Amino acid sequence: MAVIGHFIGGQHVKSEESDMLQLIDPATGLAIDKVCLGGERDIQAAVQEAKAALPGWSATPPARRAAILFRFRDLIEKHADELANLITREHGKVLADARGSLQRGLEVVEFACGIPHLLKGEFLENVGTGVDSYSLRQPVGICAGITPFNFPAMVPMWMFPIAIACGNVFILKPSEKVPSCAMRLAELFTEAGLPNGVLNVVNGGKNCVDAILDHPLIEAISFVGSTPIAEYVYRTGTAAGKRVQALGGAKNHLVVMPDADLDNTTEALMGAAYGSAGERCMAVSVAVAVGDIAGPLVDRLAKRVRGMKVGPGKAPDSDMGPLITREHRDKVSTYVDIGVSEGASLIVDGRGLKLQGYEKGAYLGGSLFDHVTPQMRIYRDEIFGPVLCVVRCPTLESAIDLINSHEYGNGTAIFTQDGDAARHFVNRIKVGMAGVNVAIPVPMAFFSFGGWKRSLFGDHNVHGTDGVRFYTRLKTVTSRWPDGRRVHAEFIMPTMK
Ligand code: NAD
Repeated sequence: MAVIGHFIGGQHVKSEESDMLQLIDPATGLAIDKVCLGGERDIQAAVQEAKAALPGWSATPPARRAAILFRFRDLIEKHADELANLITREHGKVLADARGSLQRGLEVVEFACGIPHLLKGEFLENVGTGVDSYSLRQPVGICAGITPFNFPAMVPMWMFPIAIACGNVFILKPSEKVPSCAMRLAELFTEAGLPNGVLNVVNGGKNCVDAILDHPLIEAISFVGSTPIAEYVYRTGTAAGKRVQALGGAKNHLVVMPDADLDNTTEALMGAAYGSAGERCMAVSVAVAVGDIAGPLVDRLAKRVRGMKVGPGKAPDSDMGPLITREHRDKVSTYVDIGVSEGASLIVDGRGLKLQGYEKGAYLGGSLFDHVTPQMRIYRDEIFGPVLCVVRCPTLESAIDLINSHEYGNGTAIFTQDGDAARHFVNRIKVGMAGVNVAIPVPMAFFSFGGWKRSLFGDHNVHGTDGVRFYTRLKTVTSRWPDGRRVHAEFIMPTMK
C-alpha cells in the first residue's frame, strides 16, 4: 500500500504532519493506497517553488515552451494505458471511458502546443504622428487549479497545459479521492523537460483550498466541482483580488422531439445518462419528451436500462462501473427513494444491485423515472448518479421554458429531424453548451467549455481562446521614438489628432 504525498519543485514530498485519507477501490471495496491531506505548509512550499521558477519560465520563448509540451503529449500517448488504469483504479469508470477522457485531455495539450499563435498581440503604426501602438499578452504569474473526482486526468488538463504554455507556473490541487493520475501527469511533464517548480501538485481537501484562497502570491484560480464550493471559491477568491473561474454543477436536459429517430435517440440517451455511472457534469439526467413520443421512448429506454451490464471498470464487458464511494452510492439510492415518495413513476429500479464477488463495491443499477415534474427534488437537484428522469412536455416552447427555468445551465441537446426547430432551440436556450442530435456537446479543445447561470461563476470558460485570455493579462503599449522635435508639457488630456 503506497502513501501518496505531493509533487513540489520536481520532488515527491510528504506532509510533515498531516492526516491521511485511505483510498478505497470502488470496484472491490478494498483499501488501496493512502493519500496525504496537505494544508497551509504544503501550499506555502509549492508557492515558494513556483515563485522561484516563474522568472525563468515566463522568460522562456513560447516556442521553446511549446517544444516541451510536444514531448509531454508524446509521453501521455506512450503511457495512455497506465494512466487509464490509474483512473479506473481510483474512480471506477470503465477502462474504455477512462481512455476516452484521457484523450480529451490530450487534445488540450495539443491545443496548448499551438498557443504561441494565440499569444500574438495587435499592432498599429502611426496612431498619432510618429506614435505606434501595440498590445501584448503576458502571463498572470502563479496560478492554481482545484479539480473534482469525476475526471482525474481531463479536468486538470483543461487547466495546467494552457496556463503553463502561456508562461505561468501552476499549483494543482486534485480531488483527494483520485490523486494518482495528476501525480503521474506531473512526473511525465517533468520527464518531458519542464523545469522544476513550474507544475506542482499538492494533495488534500478543504485545508488546501483555503490555503490557496488565502495565499497573497496566487494570482489566478481555476476551479471545477460542485456549485456550492464553486460559489465559495469564486466569492472568496475574487474578494481577495484574484482572478477566478469556477465551474459548478449541472442538470442537463435532452429534448426529444416527436420526429426524432427513436432508436438513435434511445442509444444516445443511454450513453449520456448512464455512461460513467452518471458521474459527469455533462451527463444527461433529464429527458424532455415532447408530445406523444414519451410512451414509446420510455418503453425503449426501460428495455435498454434493464439490459445494461454493470460491473468492475476493468471488465471489458461492463457498460457501467461502480460509483465513486459507497457513501455516494447510498446518497444516489436515497434519491430514488425520494423520487418514489414524490410520486414519480419508477420504471426501472437500480437499488439493491449485488454483484457476486464484488459485494463490497459501490455498485448501483440504472434507474429510470417517468412522469417527473419540475417541483420534485429528483428534478431540481443534481443527483450525479445513474438516474434518468423523463419529463413530459406538450410543445418545444414549453420544453425550452422548462430548461431555462432551471438554476443550472451547463449542457443541453435536442434530437430532431427539423432544422428550424433545432435552430430555434439553439437560439433560445439559456445554456452554455448545446447539442443538435449530439447528446454530450463537450466542445473540442480549440473551443471553450463552460456553462451559464449557476454552472459557472466568472467571466471565462476553460480552454480554447477563453483559457488563453484567463491565463494572460493584456498590456497595451503606446510608443514614440525621439525624432528631434521639441516636446512641451501638455496640461490637457492628450489626443493623437
Ligand atoms: P466537490 O465540489 O465536492 O469537490 C471539488 C473540489 O473542491 C475538490 O478538489 C475538493 O477537494 C474541494 N472541496 C470539497 N469540499 C470543499 C470545501 N468545503 N471547501 C473547499 N474545497 C472543497 O465536487 P466533486 O464531488 O469532486 O465533483 C463532482 C461535482 O463537480 C459535480 O457537481 C459536477 O457537476 C461537478 N463538475 C463540474 C464540471 C463542469 O465543467 N462544470 C466538470 C466536472 C465536475
